[in-house]
Amino acid sequence: MKIITRFAPSPTGYLHIGGARTALYSWLFSRSNKGIFILRIEDTDINRSNIKSVNSIIEGLKWLKINWDKGPFFQTNNLYRYNKIINLMLNNGNAYKCYCSKNRLNLLRNYQIKNNIKPRYDKFCINFKNKNENKKYVIRFLNPENGYVIFNDKIRGLIKTNNNELDDFIICRENGIPTYNFSSVIDDLDMNITHIIRGSEHINNTPKQINIFKSLGCKIPKYAHVSIILGDDGKKLSKRYFSNNINDYKYKGYIPEALINYILKLGWSYKNKEIFTISEMKKYFNFKNFVKSSSIFDIKKLNWINQYYLNNMSIKKIKSNILPYIKENKLNISKKPKIENVIKLFNKRCKNLVEMSKFFKYIYNIDIIINYKVIKYILKFKNIFKILIIIYNKFNKIKFWTYKNINNIIFEIKNEFNLNMYNVCMPLRIIITGKKNTPNINNIIYIIKKKKTLYRINNLINILFNFKYFD
Ligand SMILES: [Zn+2]
Repeated sequence: MKIITRFAPSPTGYLHIGGARTALYSWLFSRSNKGIFILRIEDTDINRSNIKSVNSIIEGLKWLKINWDKGPFFQTNNLYRYNKIINLMLNNGNAYKCYCSKNRLNLLRNYQIKNNIKPRYDKFCINFKNKNENKKYVIRFLNPENGYVIFNDKIRGLIKTNNNELDDFIICRENGIPTYNFSSVIDDLDMNITHIIRGSEHINNTPKQINIFKSLGCKIPKYAHVSIILGDDGKKLSKRYFSNNINDYKYKGYIPEALINYILKLGWSYKNKEIFTISEMKKYFNFKNFVKSSSIFDIKKLNWINQYYLNNMSIKKIKSNILPYIKENKLNISKKPKIENVIKLFNKRCKNLVEMSKFFKYIYNIDIIINYKVIKYILKFKNIFKILIIIYNKFNKIKFWTYKNINNIIFEIKNEFNLNMYNVCMPLRIIITGKKNTPNINNIIYIIKKKKTLYRINNLINILFNFKYFD
């Protein structure tokens, strides 16, 4: 049997953490079984669906490299097919038209609640057939009155629902567009979906959907309902201190593999393994290792994994990940230094790609930002004006721009002025980079080469001169 899975989001918002996780599980299961993974956009709720959400979902999946084999299919392109089956069901008595007004349904509901009866539709219209052709109607599924719906959830085990707990739910709205529970079943059927992996908020839909499958005499797919994800306050994921939107992690410079690694483990585990490559994920993924209880989204853990990836990824991989951010910052990296050498300076000390690409500014741009505050800070260092002029002259005389030669000059200055390393390197660091916290300044001076180094030192000498600063 060919394994076929799908990710079927409703485009009523961005791709959130939970959605990305079910997409990941469905994708991994199909990939680990050489199956097919389908992307289906469930947009039959036309008032809430929008193209912006579709684009956001697709952007998120592409960034995470969760690639689909077929689709995206849009349910609104398939209305003809749904209506054909609904007509079939009307004809064979598996569905019927309901002309009840909202008012009547409200009265019914209130009466049932008042009398401690579970609110459900009372089949009032079941025998009307087509008598009220001109009145608006919805179409209801004729749910079996007796017996049980039993399915073996791949994560939760046997789930049994009494049919008398389900009512004749609506499968087609007044506007002729089918509801989620119906269109979803028809597509799962037509696409030969074998395994449906989705959030546990769908557990209540599953018996209804199974009953539709049964009424059509079709094979029922296997279901797996994954646990919910909560914030560390035990409540639903909120936007209080981190985002639930996958694309925000892209904009903040996370590594997609790191995010996937983290999301994978929200609800699934393998021994005590923390870090998984994508091929390891495909290799180890199975239904046995799912966690039934809810999981907690921990941003600190995600940050730890992200940093781990950044520190341990190959330079080549970091390069391909950081290029979009470099483009965003409009940095011209076509000239020297080689980006690989720059990455080597920073990959062990950055938390994310945005931070790293910001550091690239003082490597690739000619000018750096030196504000008044910085100048005041530099002025605190003793003999700084003299030191800068001497450093400038010494650097200017260097014939071979080697790390060793740069290092020697810094040592000479240190000894000449009887200073400690900090008092030479710190002002130099700020003049060269505009920042107090950088990798070894000798390395930076070496990598940005002579011209840029002299340019920046000279710039500061001029600024200090204009400040009428003399020792
Ligand atoms: Zn009715």
